[in-house]
Amino acid sequence: MSKTLISTRGLRKTYGKRNNKFDALRGVTFDINEGESVAIIGKSGSGKSTLMHLLALLDKPTKGEITLNSHPTAKLKARHLNVIRNKEFGFVFQSFFMNSNDTVLNNVILPLKIAGVGYRERRRRAIAALKTVKFDDKRNNKANDLSGGQKQRVCIARAIVNNPKVIFADEPTGNLDSATGEKIMNLLFRLNREKGITLIIVTHDQDLANKCQRQINIKDGRIVSDTAAEFEPDDDGDEEIREIVGDEDSDDWDDEDATPEKFAGDNNIDGMLDRQPHVTHIDIDEEEEN
Ligand code: ADP
Repeated sequence: MSKTLISTRGLRKTYGKRNNKFDALRGVTFDINEGESVAIIGKSGSGKSTLMHLLALLDKPTKGEITLNSHPTAKLKARHLNVIRNKEFGFVFQSFFMNSNDTVLNNVILPLKIAGVGYRERRRRAIAALKTVKFDDKRNNKANDLSGGQKQRVCIARAIVNNPKVIFADEPTGNLDSATGEKIMNLLFRLNREKGITLIIVTHDQDLANKCQRQINIKDGRIVSDTAAEFEPDDDGDEEIREIVGDEDSDDWDDEDATPEKFAGDNNIDGMLDRQPHVTHIDIDEEEEN
């Protein structure tokens, strides 16, 4: 049976003070299981990004509780939150947040550098992540010279380079044409199926939402529906899966940390921290946006 990964109970988020107060979330309760693909949908301003930021521990709720692997997160110190975000979460945003003057490889390496991984190992793992997204041949290109779809591939490589449990994607296809967007979607769902990575996707894109196992619909800061897909989500990345699984040269999955079984054994936050002793205090979000 699937294990609960993230739980929210009565989440509220109020921005501003006094006359400028705005309740962006007004009591949100749900659980996300390991390995699920979940779309958070709703009109602009409904509270989707606010919810995603809380789930990703990028911001704190005004009220309510978020637990990760059954551990409350409210009292975690900034350093521990940084470790969890760096090691357990991957982020993919509509506007990429890449260092455009740096190379593809250095952009992908960044989370490993923050995690204190040594030079040779971080290079090896970044190249493996780029292979997974089929972009290792352009690793020395400047990020600035890439198309939108190529940039998003690099961002996905960066998101998976630390073998995360969860990928949070905020409108990942928002800046892409539909054909490119579809390829990016397929890539995300392949990672979900093959690596067991939980996908939490904020999107306006109904095609993308329809590919998720579950859709949580937010309106004015409240959940108005939470529905499971009536079909098995599409498996249209078949060819790519074969390549990943069957490619003997690929070292994509050779890190034993990467297996879902290994992740399933880590049922507490302390376990996550134990696996990552050399993390510095740099905040990945600030680093990424510089
Ligand atoms: P969505 O992602 O669904 O478009 P958001 O979560 O970004 O919605 O925003 C929900 C509401 O909260 C919006 O009305 C938005 O203007 C408001 N909001 C979001 N962030 C802030 C902020 N930092 N300060 C004040 N209001 C905010």
